[in-house]
Amino acid sequence: MTRRSSPPETIRQIPFHRPSLDQRDIDAVGEVLRSGWITSGPRTREFESRFAAYIGAPHAVALNSCTAALHLALAAEDLRPGDEVITTPYTFVATVEAICYLGARPVLADVDPVTRNIDPAAVEDRITERTRAVVPVHIAGQPCDMDPILEIAERHGVAVIEDAAHSLPASYKGRRIGTIGKATCFSFYATKNLTTAEGGMITTANPDLAERYRRLSLHGIDKSGWRRYEFGGSWHYEVSEMGYKYNLTDVASAIGLTQLEKLDDLDRRRHELAEAYTRRLDGLEGLALPSALPDRRHAWHLYIVDVDPEASGVSRDEFIERLTKRGVATSVHFIPVHWHPHYAERLGYRRGDFPHAEAAFRRAVSLPLYPAMEDEDVDYVVDAVRGALGSD
Ligand SMILES: *Cc1c(COP(=O)(O)O)cnc(C)c1O
Repeated sequence: MTRRSSPPETIRQIPFHRPSLDQRDIDAVGEVLRSGWITSGPRTREFESRFAAYIGAPHAVALNSCTAALHLALAAEDLRPGDEVITTPYTFVATVEAICYLGARPVLADVDPVTRNIDPAAVEDRITERTRAVVPVHIAGQPCDMDPILEIAERHGVAVIEDAAHSLPASYKGRRIGTIGKATCFSFYATKNLTTAEGGMITTANPDLAERYRRLSLHGIDKSGWRRYEFGGSWHYEVSEMGYKYNLTDVASAIGLTQLEKLDDLDRRRHELAEAYTRRLDGLEGLALPSALPDRRHAWHLYIVDVDPEASGVSRDEFIERLTKRGVATSVHFIPVHWHPHYAERLGYRRGDFPHAEAAFRRAVSLPLYPAMEDEDVDYVVDAVRGALGSD
């Protein structure tokens, strides 16, 4: 590979992410700000009902993050110190953090080396009398193998709480993610497939659970109480259990509503971009591309490639360096949870305990993938990847 002839200032800069926000989102926020009602109110109730309808879930409760959603989903299981919750080491720390909030113990189970999703056989191996829940994470937007996970959970009487931060919209064997587990937690963080800057949602089929999530999200105040600020509402409220402050604002929900209207278009664009990467990067020596299994629909939140240093002649870190020099920003998903000093000490796991998750991490590079990317951006990234795998 010869050096590019173009001077550095003409190098394109491809950011790792840019949210898809337009005038409709901006107008919706302006409208809320002018309305006199800025926190949880009519827009949030509307966002919940439209989100539930979109997913096909009977209930949706809007919250200020997916971390909050995971916390409440687990809190509603009334976990106690000593209880165990099985999840994956290959995830963002929020998943295990939420388990620790309740004083429960995260028990990690290794992943499938191809999908990077939690391996149902490893889940089965980790079940004990103290197991109360399993938290599968649909990595990159590709659903976990839910049938065996549900079967194991049912046989042992444990709850399935899904971390669906990446998987909107996604489906498994024709079933939408958000309608499968006891509760499903979504993220609307700035980089996620639908954003409200910060935000989250829990979906569930169980009306009592939905009611409980809603109560826990606002100081444990009962339903009759959280209407107290509505015109004509009562000043009286009652707290029946300790709660948290996790409600989503109408400012955020207004963005959520306009984003939801565009979600199918955004999703289509993610699929186009992922397919373009797969078509054009296929067959490069030392680079493995992400799988998309035929029985599920991927949400393509992330496009994670696998750099094999022996076959490619370039280390993962050097590959990232070379892309950065070419103006292509990347990221790495995920540093295994038990490698972080706090969780290593707290959970007592050691490096080497989860070989598939660790091997996946060592080779992982997430390429830019977001609907605001132009076709020329994809061309540029593909050329940069080819160049980075070359010897220059
Ligand atoms: C982003 C993310 C979260 C946390 O989402 P927040 O809305 O930022 O709290 C949880 N789990 C995974 C896998 C994530 O990627």
